[in-house]
Amino acid sequence: MPVLADKVAIITGAGAGIGEAIARAFSAEGARVVVSDIDVARAQKVADTLPGAIAVGADVRDEDQVRALIERAVAECGRLDVVVPNAGIATTVPLTEMSFDQWRDVMSVNLDGVFLTIRHSLPALLAAGGGSIVTISSITATAGSALIASYAAAKAAVRNLTETVSAELRTHGIRANALLPGFIDTELVTSHQADFEAALGLEPGGFDTVITGKQTRYGRVEEVAAAAVFFASDQSAWCNGSSLILDGGFRGALL
Ligand code: NAP
Repeated sequence: MPVLADKVAIITGAGAGIGEAIARAFSAEGARVVVSDIDVARAQKVADTLPGAIAVGADVRDEDQVRALIERAVAECGRLDVVVPNAGIATTVPLTEMSFDQWRDVMSVNLDGVFLTIRHSLPALLAAGGGSIVTISSITATAGSALIASYAAAKAAVRNLTETVSAELRTHGIRANALLPGFIDTELVTSHQADFEAALGLEPGGFDTVITGKQTRYGRVEEVAAAAVFFASDQSAWCNGSSLILDGGFRGALL
């Protein structure tokens, strides 16, 4: 029996990368997925390959668009059981050069967007008698991370918000758990490699050497998606407010 049979799930930022992999994994486990992305054409391309899936364009920074996303999901799919506020961006800028706008850009997607998606999903989850929220934090939530101050601060806040959701809503059957991936092979990482290399004085390709030295390899989107299935499903019924690190050992090893 598929572990997400009869569940309806919304995934934001699901037109690519980790979000797309989560949408595919949820669908394979029987869920009806609402594939949302700022780029609706990309979301549609993913949804077209998944049985019963719908695509909805939404910029998670915009409260009206997030509200409309949830309303459309419930109107078309009849209920809501699982929410993955996955959409995220990054900037790679030293603190000495980071403008307030650069700080706010990342915060508005990676923190405000997560708040808005959770906040507007809650009435539908409560109406369904409970549900599961799976946030995508990061190992950068657990320690200082040079060059990505806004990203790491937002991810630490997402982890804390996840715990607060579980504290406030556990008596209503709503669980919230956070995934903390290390470096996963997606556009988000590859598009910032050159910036990291320039800022850290590394040769071209040097970033790969640093990351594979810490993690042995880049993580795969399917590896994050498998953990999302666990948190979304009743297999993790006793997990609430948990954080799961998925980093190939990056955080666990001093040497
Ligand atoms: P990705 O490949 O860049 O995919 C992110 C998707 O989100 C893209 O389709 C992007 O669209 C969309 N998006 C961006 N801004 C949005 C907005 N305002 N509203 C709605 N959608 C938006 O990134 P990823 O690596 O899969 O990251 C997914 C999540 O995992 C993020 O929260 C990220 O911080 C987190 N994470 C990633 C890693 C990693 O190593 N990759 C590690 C830890 C955590 P556009 O491309 O058009 O902008």
